[in-house]
Amino acid sequence: MKVFGKTEYLNLYYRYFAPLLAGIDTSSWDVLLYLWPSEEMPKGMQGTRPVFSPPKTIRIPIVHLPNVAMETYAKSQESIIAHEYGHYVHTAFMGKDGSEKWQEWAELTGSSLDFQWTEKYAAHPYRVVPSYEDFAWDFSFWLQGKRWHMEQFYMSLWGQEAKATTENIAIFRKMIKELGKVGQGRLRELIEKDNPRALLYL
Ligand SMILES: [Zn+2]
Repeated sequence: MKVFGKTEYLNLYYRYFAPLLAGIDTSSWDVLLYLWPSEEMPKGMQGTRPVFSPPKTIRIPIVHLPNVAMETYAKSQESIIAHEYGHYVHTAFMGKDGSEKWQEWAELTGSSLDFQWTEKYAAHPYRVVPSYEDFAWDFSFWLQGKRWHMEQFYMSLWGQEAKATTENIAIFRKMIKELGKVGQGRLRELIEKDNPRALLYL
């Protein structure tokens, strides 16, 4: 995994986005992420919308909005960057359309599989493959800590164990309730080091 871009954007990426990847072994992720203003993107990569180009290129055009602090903007890009990583992940790790992995994913998420290009996918005014989009959004929600039950499935794609199981989370929740303020703070610090995504479940 390599991230390229203006220093200012890289700083925001490492500050706001990188923590979502803590505990995830990305050493096998052969993906390149570009964070540049559209007009400064490498040749042939200009355009105004974030896009994943198979097999491994993500570009996130950065827009300067007047009256919007770059930090606010960076936070708003979190789910979009996570979504584009999702496209990389299904391309790299899910096998062919309709593979066993795809079927397992569909069962876990309650999605139906559809690999036909269509223009009728909500919120996208361009042609997409519905299952690719559904996967990218689910993956994005997982990275943002909103899909705890998917931890085992996604981590297994690149050969990792879940950092915490549903049972672990139940235990953390119970401990948090029973601990005093100081103990709660310490427990949060520990969890944050290992897996900040888990904090969102407490
Ligand atoms: Zn997408």
